[in-house]
Amino acid sequence: MKDGYLDFANSALGAKLINALGLPNPLNLERYQPGQPVIQGAVLVGGGGAPELLGSLATLLKRMGAQTLAHERLPQWVAVANQAGLTTGRWGGNGQAGEKVKALVFDATGLADSTQSDALYWFFHDAARSLLPCGRIIVLGRPPEACDSPRKATVQRSLEGLTRSLGKELKKGSNAQLVYVAEGAEDNIESTLRFLLSPRSAYVSAQVIRVGKPVGQLTAPLDWNLPLSGKKVLVTGASRGIGAAIAEVMARDGAQVICLDVPQALDGLNEVAKKLGGKSLALDIGAADAPQKLVEAAKADGGWDVIVHNAGITRDKTIANMKEHLWQMVVNINLSTQERINEAMVSSGALKQGGRIVCVSSISGIAGNMGQTNYAVSKAGVIGMVQSSAPIFAEQGITINAVAPGFIETQMTAAIPFAIREAGRRMNSMSQGGQPVDVAEAIAWFASPASSGLTSNVIRVCGQSLIGA
Ligand code: NAP
Repeated sequence: MKDGYLDFANSALGAKLINALGLPNPLNLERYQPGQPVIQGAVLVGGGGAPELLGSLATLLKRMGAQTLAHERLPQWVAVANQAGLTTGRWGGNGQAGEKVKALVFDATGLADSTQSDALYWFFHDAARSLLPCGRIIVLGRPPEACDSPRKATVQRSLEGLTRSLGKELKKGSNAQLVYVAEGAEDNIESTLRFLLSPRSAYVSAQVIRVGKPVGQLTAPLDWNLPLSGKKVLVTGASRGIGAAIAEVMARDGAQVICLDVPQALDGLNEVAKKLGGKSLALDIGAADAPQKLVEAAKADGGWDVIVHNAGITRDKTIANMKEHLWQMVVNINLSTQERINEAMVSSGALKQGGRIVCVSSISGIAGNMGQTNYAVSKAGVIGMVQSSAPIFAEQGITINAVAPGFIETQMTAAIPFAIREAGRRMNSMSQGGQPVDVAEAIAWFASPASSGLTSNVIRVCGQSLIGA
């Protein structure tokens, strides 16, 4: 659905009026166009204590074709970057800001104690005003639960407060994320850095991402523009909305897509599949024999590499007014079917070794929502399923992650009454709803063969919604 206020805010007259009245000021977010470089503009690098990731960071930024600058408190970056063959220089100095940059990357892995946190202050204090619109902030840390001292764990945990606050302060379409990199996982962060630095992460903000050692094999794609080349991807609920966008992004990234939806949606489904050169599969995933039918279809197709559990329904009523069948229907379609399908596909080998499962949860499952007890139970359950099955599926090299969308412009949200819809659109750091493609891009990142260090993650695609933050 079109957001008229967003268009108005980006017109000459609208911008003036909105500034004068102090109203929410949404910016047209930059979104990824095939073939464009990961990042257009320089990356300013900072660090505190004895940063542990600089070498890996320089190698990866070089591979991405990025240009970097060193903050004056990280002078060693210039030598590290030069050694990696990276174009670099110095930024500002003596209290003077340098040129405008597209991203701020801070290696906080070396912070061992909260008394060292002023390194964060100096870097972000100096550079905050120099970030271009739709800029990116990435803070790299160590997972607190794995730190060898309470003091290190404490300062590493404190990074969450920093990134969440930066996300709220930045405005102008910029976002901020915290990436906890486990010891030994330093070489697994490329797919994550590429996603976070690029416009693919337009509507993801203030998220905490955990990268661990690879589950199964870490495979860097031959062509980062086609990371899913040769992969077969099942997308449920693919006839419209977010599911159609997921199928489109997967196909754009090189995958052969199998688009599934209910038999009643066959016309829309065929249209999506035909456009993408994929296959359509009309199936009610809630049916008792659906898991077996999927196993047979996958085996006949030589096995599938990725399952995206996108199909979902809402049947909203307050708990006092809700009929039992509405509860059962929502929990069955949104959650129990996913459990049954995962178990059947993994145990039969129909989902190949090294496969990926990506589930669609919701911020309702994180924050709860009036009139949505059934839906929130199902979507919180998806998070439980992801976290509890990740270690089990890891034995077969399979990862499982979830995205939790906030307000996304689809038929589902177009049906919301006007005042509630407007509140949903504006109550986030981007002051606008997300697009289906924003959810799809996050799913494609999890689905990539290069994302074997990512499992058990739940990432919100909500523009840092105030709900449940
Ligand atoms: P949508 O437009 O309603 O599309 C969902 C698709 O899934 C529909 O085509 C639907 O078919 C299909 N489906 C439902 N039950 C099925 C079944 N038993 N078997 C096969 N297909 C089935 O929804 P959307 O807005 O794109 O949302 C996609 C996912 O994102 C859902 O899981 C939703 O809960 C989640 N989500 C959306 C938002 C948002 O803002 N839109 C926010 C948070 C989470 P029918 O025509 O039968 O319904």
